[in-house]
Amino acid sequence: MKAKKKTDLKILEDMCKDGFLYSHFGEYWKRKHGYKVCKVPLNADFTCPNWDGRISKVGCTFCPSFARQFTYNSFRQVINQGLEEQVRDQVKHYQEMAGGKKCLVYIAFGTNTYAPLEDLKKIYDAALKHKDVVGLSIGTRPDCLPDEVFDLLENYVKKGKEIWLEIGQQTVHQHTLEKIKRRHGFAEAIRVVEEAHKRGIKVIFFVILGLPGETREEMVETARIISALKVDAVKIYSLIVMKKTQIAQDYLEGRYNPIGFKEYVNTVCDFLENLDRKVLIQRLSKDCGLETKLAPEWNTYRLIVGPAVEKELKKRGTKQGSKLKLTLTAEELKPLAPAEKMTFGGEEYCQDEPEF
Ligand code: SF4
Repeated sequence: MKAKKKTDLKILEDMCKDGFLYSHFGEYWKRKHGYKVCKVPLNADFTCPNWDGRISKVGCTFCPSFARQFTYNSFRQVINQGLEEQVRDQVKHYQEMAGGKKCLVYIAFGTNTYAPLEDLKKIYDAALKHKDVVGLSIGTRPDCLPDEVFDLLENYVKKGKEIWLEIGQQTVHQHTLEKIKRRHGFAEAIRVVEEAHKRGIKVIFFVILGLPGETREEMVETARIISALKVDAVKIYSLIVMKKTQIAQDYLEGRYNPIGFKEYVNTVCDFLENLDRKVLIQRLSKDCGLETKLAPEWNTYRLIVGPAVEKELKKRGTKQGSKLKLTLTAEELKPLAPAEKMTFGGEEYCQDEPEF
């Protein structure tokens, strides 16, 4: 079995020396492969088991029918074409616009592993056919990846393709997962990371900051758990209240307040400080266009987020991973008090007492 290729620490160290305060995915790819890669979106008409009744009929509270409208102008023009035509036109567009030499096809809408295996193979094969496509980045739920899908994806890895799974985990906290009606827990994601890494497949987690009822400490804990789990990359964004979603109703009736710009920037910084440097950052913000959005207003100008985060990190004198601590160091394994007698809550407790 092909083991997971490790993130190249030397490249990350060099990026750090060159002033990068976090592990920027695009820059990392450029330094590792020697060229710029673009991610081109593909609509393969997938549905979702959290919509069609297999798991539920209501969907996640923030999801507007798989967010197909949630996309760029260039893509809207081709979104209903055949798969190979979409890839052809999008690759051309991104190569001309962004100067990318090669592309990863990002299968983005709905749950993109939710179809019979033979259909999945046809879709993935079609997406990989273009000569400048080096791999796939597949958006899906963590509970929608049986071993047979992993087998299929592993075959592409064996043929030299770069395969990423983009897992819409959003948070590691069960109370939030229930509130946003994801209808899966965190155990599913642990299985996915382990299974993917065994097969040379990489994993991105989507993380939303500002989910209803979640504290900043809990958001930071998500960063720490992602680090411990050795997830390869994250996409961080604030919750967008889109029209015709369940969360829109909560927002309109005053039960949900979206995170503000300053608070978001500060929370992203806290998150990054507690995230391992080896976790690559694919995005720090996201928007859906004014015609589909109710709030927040500030992320319409989402390109202001990156510089604001960097400015705040500079002000704090910190960077990605600088506050992450998952264990005492070997030097710290020196007890500060004698072991024989320690006092807890005013009562004397003797460690030598036998346990019954
Ligand atoms: S899993 Fe994704 S596509 Fe399905 S309802 Fe939730 S956000 Fe929408």
